[in-house]
Amino acid sequence: MSEQATGRRGRASARAPAEDAGEGRSVGKRPAVKAAFDKKIVALVYDFDGTLSPRPMQEYAFLPKIGAEAKEFWAESNRIAKEHGADILITYMHLLYKKAKEKGIRIDRDDLVAQGKAVEYFAGVEEWFDAIGEYVKIRAESHGVILRHYLVSSGLTEIVEGTSIYDRFHNVFASEYWFEAYDMPYPKRVITDTGKTQYLFRINKGIEDLRVNINDHMDEGARPIPFSNMIYFGDGDTDVPSMAVMRKNGGHAVAVYPPGKAKTKCVDLFKAGRCDFFAPADYRRGSDLFKRTCLLIDRILADIRVQEEVWRLGRGLK
Ligand SMILES: [Mg+2]
Repeated sequence: MSEQATGRRGRASARAPAEDAGEGRSVGKRPAVKAAFDKKIVALVYDFDGTLSPRPMQEYAFLPKIGAEAKEFWAESNRIAKEHGADILITYMHLLYKKAKEKGIRIDRDDLVAQGKAVEYFAGVEEWFDAIGEYVKIRAESHGVILRHYLVSSGLTEIVEGTSIYDRFHNVFASEYWFEAYDMPYPKRVITDTGKTQYLFRINKGIEDLRVNINDHMDEGARPIPFSNMIYFGDGDTDVPSMAVMRKNGGHAVAVYPPGKAKTKCVDLFKAGRCDFFAPADYRRGSDLFKRTCLLIDRILADIRVQEEVWRLGRGLK
């Protein structure tokens, strides 16, 4: 029921949804009449920094390794971006390596992946994927519902690859470096706040292969994962574009805040209609976050059953 990734994800080689939807569709050829209702994939999409992990992923190993104090590093990065009118994400990716080079510290791709091991999570994150999978399995009365987890992050693909939860994601979309093109690593892909929404549409349209253009028109009915089957998890302002896209397209959004700390940002998001729910970032079974996510899953599963019945009814009329 819970579908987990088995190999490398997050880059151009992601498999097409038809390959694993198990509904007998063949890639590149759409039968005139579908053999079965095929909108049964439920996608949970997560931001990383501040949502699954209390701190930005670069703070666990990269910044300590180059002797940079986190608060000062981000302040300097944001100041440089502002001064030069530069993109704040490109600026931080550049500054990380500029500082490493200044210190004569070489950090290659393998080093970055190794840094993923140092990343910490909010309570229950590592158990969450199985727990939610079990819940979907128990509640899914419609046969063939598949649960997927996706990560869409402005952080670094390489670090995510080294984390213990990497294989839990069907696909990971995050910023990434070129390592061989220049002396200093150069941004290969930068995922900005608004850029994140592109990946929501890729999931929605089943175009996860980054070599394929996402902008071609696709009828709503042809999209393998309707937004109504999706829940986005985020923690703040940087998630506003994604939450807005989700909610405006019939999807769901949940905002989280660090347990025991201020929930002001979440309250603002909730009042502005950006999210369905908010909760402390406690992923343990039985937490408010777990219970509220299960409520949304109940709604999604009920909706899938209704849609399937409508599909069956319509099919019988032909
Ligand atoms: Mg965040």
